[in-house]
Amino acid sequence: AARLQQGGELRFYQPAMNRDLLARLQLDQAMRLGLAAGQFRLQYQPQVDLRDGRILGAEALCRWTDPQRGPVSPAQFIGVAEETGFIAELGDWVLHEAVAQAARWHRAGRALPVSVNVSALQFRDAGFVAGVARALAEAHLPPGLLELELTESLLLDEVDAHLQQLQALADLGVRLAIDDFGTGYSSLRYLKRLPIHRLKIDREFIRNLPDDTSDRAITHTIVQLAQALGLDVIAEGVETDAQHRALCELGCASFQGFLVAGALTVPDFEALLDPPQRKLA
Ligand code: C2E
Ligand code: MG
Ligand code: MG
Ligand code: MG
Repeated sequence: AARLQQGGELRFYQPAMNRDLLARLQLDQAMRLGLAAGQFRLQYQPQVDLRDGRILGAEALCRWTDPQRGPVSPAQFIGVAEETGFIAELGDWVLHEAVAQAARWHRAGRALPVSVNVSALQFRDAGFVAGVARALAEAHLPPGLLELELTESLLLDEVDAHLQQLQALADLGVRLAIDDFGTGYSSLRYLKRLPIHRLKIDREFIRNLPDDTSDRAITHTIVQLAQALGLDVIAEGVETDAQHRALCELGCASFQGFLVAGALTVPDFEALLDPPQRKLA
């Protein structure tokens, strides 16, 4: 729309919402081109044993550097991809890429499970389970070396409809984790019925450890809940020694976080697996 300003100057303006929509559509377009042009990468964040620091696995995190925009955060582009439906394509690429990497590690003699984030839209696709099975078969990856991270909201709306799908994934031998656990509305009744293997305690509850007594209580409760249900548990977003100590006291078995490393390129990740031998003097 155009508006005649005082003094006869003609200005164009767009309501903020439209401008935002336009920006999102442009981002979508750039992502589609970017995926085809090889601008997307996966990086891997180590998942670590809380007691001895051993690397237990890796979470695949999507990275995109757009030539114009520079690095774009997944917090920005995943939401847009979910809105426009592009996540179906991107998610498929992520799955294949992560499975291929897990298979390379497996062939090199490492049983290093890789966790992949799955969006609701991907999961709801009727062909999702078959797609996962195909990706595993093509890469000759033992299914137990793939973990799928799902969110509570994804799992708990229409739980009955999703239960079959989850069971089919579990039957493949894939591991299932609930990401950002504690931020949604998990009903304990449903949790008991879901064929999941692991709870990931959201960073929000870790951030103010050890001082925040509510966060301590919540974290402790999640750890105990996991124990009672026979599930593994991992804390996300561990940045400090104090948080690490608190988690140790609360009985949490494993963690991810900047205290060890953020998302790493494959060479950097492998350097952490095999620290270079010190040359003898
Ligand atoms: P998430 O799956 O909960 O991943 C954890 C996020 O926390 C990652 O951000 C990670 O880099 C960051 N993080 C890890 N350790 C620390 C820490 O110690 N401190 C802080 N402050 N942050 C930490 P990232 O990579 O920006 O991803 C954000 C979200 O985007 C992810 O949350 C996930 O929901 C989504 N995402 C990322 N990659 C993919 C993907 O391939 N597919 C889908 N569907 N979603 C993805
Ligand atoms: Mg995750
Ligand atoms: Mg998370
Ligand atoms: Mg999160």
